[in-house]
Amino acid sequence: MSSEQINPEVRYTGIGVSPGIARGKIYVVHDDFEDVVRYRIQAADITGEIGRFETALIQTRAQILEMQQQIAEAIGAKDAGIFDAHLLVVEDRTLIDEVLRKLKADLCNVEFVFQEVATHYAETLSKIDDPYLRERALDIQDVTRRVVRNLLGKAPKAFLALTEQHILVAHNITPSDTATMNREQVLGLATDLGSRTSHTAIMARSLSIPAVVGLHHVTNKLETGQEVLLDGYNGLLVLDPTPETLWHYGELKHRKELVTEQLTGLRETKSTTRDGRHIVLSANIELPGDVGSVVTNGAEGIGLYRTEFLYLNRRTLPTEEEQFETYRTVAEHVSPHPLIIRTFDLGGDKIATGMNAEDELNPFMGLRAIRFCLENLHIFKAQLRAILRASAAENVKIMFPMISGVDELRRALAVLEDCKAELQREGLPFGSGTEVGAMIEIPSAALCAHALAREVDFFSIGTNDLIQYALAVDRVNERIAHLYEPTHPAVLQLLKMVSDGAHAHDIWVGVCGEMAGDLNMVPLLIGLGLDEFSVSASLVPRVKRAVQSLSVPECKKLVEEALELETPADILALCGQMAQRNYGDLLG
Ligand code: PEP
Ligand code: MG
Repeated sequence: MSSEQINPEVRYTGIGVSPGIARGKIYVVHDDFEDVVRYRIQAADITGEIGRFETALIQTRAQILEMQQQIAEAIGAKDAGIFDAHLLVVEDRTLIDEVLRKLKADLCNVEFVFQEVATHYAETLSKIDDPYLRERALDIQDVTRRVVRNLLGKAPKAFLALTEQHILVAHNITPSDTATMNREQVLGLATDLGSRTSHTAIMARSLSIPAVVGLHHVTNKLETGQEVLLDGYNGLLVLDPTPETLWHYGELKHRKELVTEQLTGLRETKSTTRDGRHIVLSANIELPGDVGSVVTNGAEGIGLYRTEFLYLNRRTLPTEEEQFETYRTVAEHVSPHPLIIRTFDLGGDKIATGMNAEDELNPFMGLRAIRFCLENLHIFKAQLRAILRASAAENVKIMFPMISGVDELRRALAVLEDCKAELQREGLPFGSGTEVGAMIEIPSAALCAHALAREVDFFSIGTNDLIQYALAVDRVNERIAHLYEPTHPAVLQLLKMVSDGAHAHDIWVGVCGEMAGDLNMVPLLIGLGLDEFSVSASLVPRVKRAVQSLSVPECKKLVEEALELETPADILALCGQMAQRNYGDLLG
């Protein structure tokens, strides 16, 4: 009798950033050949593709020459001679002509055509029984990889077009990758890097894809095709799960499904506390297509539309007309509830073509959001005009991100007034009383809340950034994720200052950062007097149940006690106890 060797399971621990359990085969993303996706182009695009190809060849040639020179200086001209063969590849007329011919015949992107032609070329040479030609095949492969990388600067990757269901495992996945990947095929996400408030994590939550980030070097340890179980609740990736583990997770999944089912009954109910205080509960969206889940989850409109996603994954900027149509459609979909359109927040971890962000050492503190807008007025104005035109529908509000103080806010408001005057002159309709708000996500803005409140109709607190700037903890760096503490006493003070400042000037104040969707934080935010919570659509039913379970006096008492505490852990424990008492079944 033969005994079969059964692999014991291996567990990798990271940070669970999007709840849910996924089971299946993994696809490990490597920055290599296989990441070149094929997409169709029009005949009119051929010249542009040839231009890209020429630029990539010139870039590659320059890189090879530079390497050659470095090696010549370090170890001598003779060894540097090997790069002569590489230079010959970028000048190889047969190869280049074949790429151009196929580009015209196949009408698809040049990186795909080039890789296909070059790979075929190299394979043919490697099969010939001649050591010189086999060497040439290796040169071609090497150079091909380099040319493709140069071409791929902004191109989509193969994992974005998977045709089978997989759990994606990657070193990092950018927000723009998350926005364009084929969601039907992605069962879960697991990354080496990342944190709870990185935009990739936020996207995963809004797409309801279980995700675990901060798994350090997991991509080096796993291979495409292996079977794993991904636990987005507890931040675990289990390789080759045992039958016991699978049974345990089957049970957990069943329990979670029961809770979800009970929550669907809340859809038509209001998010009102036990003692009758209505907290407006809206949803955050990144893409226009997310609007359906806002409605199905029973949110009262959209509290944050991250419009910058409209600018990603494309070579040209969206026109005013395109934006107008998009905003109008989203506004109609959520009507009569409000739609708060945040002007684009590019920069940080969301980089659009042509931003030259690679020159910035600290992109989160760099030319981001309103700062970028005020330096690129033509782009800013196109968006403001589009929002204003969409606001003729009356349920649209505008919000500016990353406001640091009164001057900056006034400059943004002045540009908005310019746009209104232009539209008026052109006879184009726009909402007369469109509300304007400021995001409070920089500590300086929180400290100046009174002055800012005189200028706008509402505040929305961006806790994701507010916390990172207040505590000097990069929100996307998994190495310091443990220092990113929403219950830090300093954060509590800032939140109180903003809430008090807004109410002293009779404006409403909401929270649209991830803190609002954290069930442990709901009592604290109610106690601080916040009027609106805007959370990922999938979290709306849970947050609504939490609000309905609490009363304002008990939440206020909690805040009083929390303000006396000195450590984040103590404040978190206090909040957690109240959450546990009132809606423990939703936690854990
Ligand atoms: C925030 O900073 O809390 C916020 C909502 O904006 P973003 O996450 O897009 O920076
Ligand atoms: Mg922000």
